[in-house]
Amino acid sequence: MEIVLPEPVQMLKQEVRRFIQQEVEPLNNSIEETDEVPEALINKAKDMGLFGLTIPEEYGGIGLNTVGKCAVEEELGRSNYGFATLIGNHTGISTMGVVAFGSEAQKEKYLPAMAAGDIIGSFALTEAQAGSDAANLRTTAVRDGDGWILNGEKIFITNARGAGLFNAMAVTDKSKGVKGISAFLVERGLPGVTVGPNESKMGMRGAHTASVTFQDVRLPADALLGQEGQGYVSALKILTKGRATLGARACGMASRLLDLACDYARERVQFGQPIASYQGIRWMIADVAMELHAARLMVFNAAAMLDRGEKAIKEAAMAKLFASEMLGRAADKAVQIHGGMGYMRGMMVEQFYRDCRIFRIYEGTSEIQRNIIAARTLEG
Ligand SMILES: Cc1cc2nc3c(=O)[nH]c(=O)nc-3n(C[C@H](O)[C@H](O)[C@H](O)COP(=O)(O)OP(=O)(O)OC[C@H]3O[C@@H](n4cnc5c(N)ncnc54)[C@H](O)[C@@H]3O)c2cc1C
Repeated sequence: MEIVLPEPVQMLKQEVRRFIQQEVEPLNNSIEETDEVPEALINKAKDMGLFGLTIPEEYGGIGLNTVGKCAVEEELGRSNYGFATLIGNHTGISTMGVVAFGSEAQKEKYLPAMAAGDIIGSFALTEAQAGSDAANLRTTAVRDGDGWILNGEKIFITNARGAGLFNAMAVTDKSKGVKGISAFLVERGLPGVTVGPNESKMGMRGAHTASVTFQDVRLPADALLGQEGQGYVSALKILTKGRATLGARACGMASRLLDLACDYARERVQFGQPIASYQGIRWMIADVAMELHAARLMVFNAAAMLDRGEKAIKEAAMAKLFASEMLGRAADKAVQIHGGMGYMRGMMVEQFYRDCRIFRIYEGTSEIQRNIIAARTLEG
């Protein structure tokens, strides 16, 4: 199977690579130091249309399908992970709710501003007791006249600090289990919405993660996203697509690690020869190249299935799982090939070694992906 991208996607991919090399890379060290993506860079990304990657053209976006999004995610993954998270999350799980399940009125109200980057989206499912057990929510939305009253606390929410709109899941009918969970579009400015401080993390510097508290937030009737009781099902659909695209970002990061490892191995001389001449190093490079190739095939296969309208739950879980674990091995080998230099702050391989750990945890841990794959496999 060959991954053949349509010409406009190839061109966009090249443009994104150029943007990242010229605009993001020079700021990488300062993003690492400050834990902030500078406003000036965000504005340049807005000008380039990056916030509208997956938003349909009729609402001001670029309208990429899943394969197209994966192609761009590979480029995002090759550089600063704070920037990649801002763009990748917003144009992925955070806008997908409105795009896939929004009413025409909701699309018209939010999507043009989301495509322009003037409203940042944020996907708010996780709670303290509801991580892998994501349906075990305590956040409630209780009917109040023609609207709803929302109460609860979400944790670990990506992009929450800059977000203008949350896609938040809440229990609307406890007696119905997962069918009693609904999704709501919650505007940041509503009274009772509070965002906590940015969490200090192992990596992902520049990517903001925070809690979001809803205290007696009065939501209008039209804040309901999709059908009442469909919130959990829609969240799973969003996460399935998110997993394929996150797998693509993992491939991007692994491809950069491979480039860095190859460059270093060619240049570094020990015992009178470049270390690239030693079999121990060559076999590490071969393993990374091979596993990266396999991961890309899995990612683009899952993405193509999703674009054909197939569910691809198992294939997206496999792609995310394999790509995340492949990335962990690639980062470990890249650090090893760099020797002591690989352990030094300021080296991209050291930064990616910390950044890459999150892939095996969020949007469903590796164990949860295995549970999904096993369940689908045993079903026959
Ligand atoms: C930086 C960051 C950003 C995030 N961004 C978002 C976001 O934007 N929106 C959002 O809603 N959430 C977000 N999350 C939450 C993330 O999706 C959860 O952290 C993740 O799903 C795991 O949940 P948990 O942390 O509660 O771990 P737990 O569910 O407590 O898991 C602990 C361990 O137990 C294992 N485990 C649990 N259940 C099983 C099982 N049945 N079988 C085998 N093993 C099991 C897990 O795999 C894991 O190893 C983010 C998290 C982080 C760290």
